[in-house]
Amino acid sequence: MALSKDIYSAFEDVVGPEYICNDPVIMPSYHGTEFAAIVLPKDTAEVQAIVKLCNKYKLPFRPVCTGWTGKFSKGTLYLDLRRMNRIIEINETNMYAVVEPYVISAQLQAELMKRGLHLNVKGAGSNCSAMLRGHGHLDQTTSGDDRNHLAIEWVTPAGDIVRSGSLGSSDEWFCGDGPGPSLRSILTSAVPPGVTPGVFTKAALKIYHWPGPSRFPVEGISPKYYLSEIPPNFMARYFSFPSVEKMWEAEIKIGESEIAFELMGFNVAMVAANITTSNEEEEQTFQRLSKEVQGPGFFIILAGNSAADFAYKKRVLEQIIGEAGGRSLASVEDPRTEGILLCQCIRISASIRETFRPGGAFSSIPVMGQRDLTIQWAIGAGQAKEPLIEKGLIVDDGGAFFGWGVEQGHLGKTEIFCKYDPQNPEAKKAVEDWHNAQSARAFQERYFALLAGPNEEIGRGLSNYHLWWNKIQQALDPNGVSAGAGALV
Ligand SMILES: Cc1cc2nc3c(=O)[nH]c(=O)nc-3n(C[C@H](O)[C@H](O)[C@H](O)COP(=O)(O)OP(=O)(O)OC[C@H]3O[C@@H](n4cnc5c(N)ncnc54)[C@H](O)[C@@H]3O)c2cc1C
Repeated sequence: MALSKDIYSAFEDVVGPEYICNDPVIMPSYHGTEFAAIVLPKDTAEVQAIVKLCNKYKLPFRPVCTGWTGKFSKGTLYLDLRRMNRIIEINETNMYAVVEPYVISAQLQAELMKRGLHLNVKGAGSNCSAMLRGHGHLDQTTSGDDRNHLAIEWVTPAGDIVRSGSLGSSDEWFCGDGPGPSLRSILTSAVPPGVTPGVFTKAALKIYHWPGPSRFPVEGISPKYYLSEIPPNFMARYFSFPSVEKMWEAEIKIGESEIAFELMGFNVAMVAANITTSNEEEEQTFQRLSKEVQGPGFFIILAGNSAADFAYKKRVLEQIIGEAGGRSLASVEDPRTEGILLCQCIRISASIRETFRPGGAFSSIPVMGQRDLTIQWAIGAGQAKEPLIEKGLIVDDGGAFFGWGVEQGHLGKTEIFCKYDPQNPEAKKAVEDWHNAQSARAFQERYFALLAGPNEEIGRGLSNYHLWWNKIQQALDPNGVSAGAGALV
């Protein structure tokens, strides 16, 4: 749906002719959707002016950082935020960093490591925006999702600028709450439909201690990144256990003793994806590793602050693993494989392989919550995958789920994938049915409720959540222009 000349030139007046486009040759390169136009604002003032024009012309808009996700409707105005790519501040004393939307995690991580600091890099990869909430391999020590957001500068769907938390009251970024009622849960997109209405233009993120080298010694080129030397006081291992219960027992003790830098409950299919560079090699490695493990397991990185601290952590780990009947996977003890895994899982660069595997498309159910509950649910969801594997409709990963600790086990995350060929309608339908049935079972058996797109039954079970969310949405976005953040059932 093309914009009229008058409306196009109103947006052009804001960003200048070089930073707006509706050329039909260029447009399909953006998500393959027919957008009204693409605009590239350079700062908050331009974002605000664009959002105000969208309200004036009742034109839906959607902001995009690095564009790994997002479903877009035809006729939406696409705000490509790539010009807003500055690290505004790294506050070493109060341990936060302030970034614009297009600062990617790799960029911020490199700057932080120079200062002995680190951040939560989303499992999607260090090539994604640092600003948007996410979770992944490092959650054990860097927490995950919305818990890392502090103060935020936000252009509301109506075009107002809100400076949340301490930013609004004292012009400082250190806190996301108050004074008075907090906006955090709206701003950090922890509410359905999974996206924040409006546009974040700057955000402060918590940062954490990094015990490793000031320059991460990565070698190789994509997709083969590795560390040829293991940094002092670092170690990576994979342990498998006789049962899920034993694995879980070890995870709890590791959390209580706070020895792990990273605790990532990969299944062996994901280990194979991380250490190989082609589908054939991956399949062979998966088959081999499946025979070497005794049952479910996890990947762990220890990082000592000193040689003595490292020795202590190794001793504690040895005792915990021994008590739970765990067994170390010999392949990962090979320093070459260990170097690849340390690289991929600290810098987070293999997610695309971990996630897709030789399938082509995936359907995933990710949940954060009490790890024991989510594991119990995932065992059933894994069993429900087995008939699909037998019929050859999804990739064989042994029915496995995966998960990891968050904040030394105070929280946890569990996720389960089905990987399938999107060209196969039978497979696509079977995976959709699996997804719907397992999401419904999660709610009916009271493990958790998936909030993205809840139906009325889930809304009623959660204090009429859907009704409240719709009221908030209407109040924030009276003209309904914040595309993607639509009403719930
Ligand atoms: C293969 C794969 C693996 C993944 N693994 C993980 C994982 O392990 N952990 C995890 O957390 N996620 C994972 N994801 C999802 C991931 O979080 C996102 O892909 C990524 O973090 C999004 O960053 P982005 O900058 O590309 O977001 P975008 O795609 O640019 O945006 C994501 C959403 O946020 C909105 N948005 C963008 N910018 C703004 C802004 N400034 N203000 C308000 N709203 C905005 C967009 O409109 C869109 O709805 C995975 C995705 C893929 C494809």
